[in-house]
Amino acid sequence: MNLLSPFDPWKSQLCTCPSKLSLNPYTGCSHGCLYCYASSYIPRFSEVRPKVGLHSRLARDLRVVTGDTFVSLASSSDPYPPQEERLGLTRGCLVQLSERDLLVQVVTKSDLVVRDADILSDMGATVAITITTLDEELAGRLEPHAPSPSRRLAAVRSLVRSSVPVSVRVDPIIPGLNDRGARDLISTLKEAGAAHVTSSTYKARPDSWRRLTYEFPEEMGRLCRLYFELGQKVGGSRYLPQPIRAGLLQPIAEACHQAGITFSSCREGLTVEGSCDGSHLARSSTAR
Ligand code: SF4
Repeated sequence: MNLLSPFDPWKSQLCTCPSKLSLNPYTGCSHGCLYCYASSYIPRFSEVRPKVGLHSRLARDLRVVTGDTFVSLASSSDPYPPQEERLGLTRGCLVQLSERDLLVQVVTKSDLVVRDADILSDMGATVAITITTLDEELAGRLEPHAPSPSRRLAAVRSLVRSSVPVSVRVDPIIPGLNDRGARDLISTLKEAGAAHVTSSTYKARPDSWRRLTYEFPEEMGRLCRLYFELGQKVGGSRYLPQPIRAGLLQPIAEACHQAGITFSSCREGLTVEGSCDGSHLARSSTAR
């Protein structure tokens, strides 16, 4: 296979994702999230480039996958960059995947995904929308070129109305920036119809740390010792000390339980309900 690739080829010791293949219709991402980890290993990351020969390469790869394959769009980019509105490459991939009856999860920060609700509602699919905060001003600094939280929330509502199961990634949590207001956030997500929440704490890599420190010097200054002296190294990232990570995720887990939404952490070695990534919702959607 040359387009579909195994998720987590480095096999992080804390990854609990079910086995799945990644499909990135585009290389690079223009959302500009300060905390992004993909920018650390993809050159010219902010330039979005459509994959050459995408649909014919996918057709070739699909000849050798089995019917129980799970495909995630996308783990190293957003499958709905602004260009997608004109190019429709991700939409074309969804058509190909639905023709093979494969299970699919779309991971995005863009409300453009709503355009494809007609396909997604007719296959074993789920959408994970990332919402790190409801604070529009903070989101504008953290994720400067991504659609606003209110547009993403509207997308959650719209997808749920179209019978597409939705999880929300409250991810990453960065202490001092977006670690407050879990109860309000989760009750808003519940009201919007989200069925599952995945959350994790920020894992520091050199380039994302530099970007965050430039934008939030005081807040990141306070975290420096926690990450780089007291924290631990996992794979290529620096983590906060485990008790601090557990303490940050606990209010979100509690708020989810009160709201009746399942909660999982991502690459933390902590709670997993349903599935860490919300992919179980795609399986349940086939049973409708
Ligand atoms: S949407 Fe994802 S891939 Fe794109 S910049 Fe943000 S974190 Fe990186």
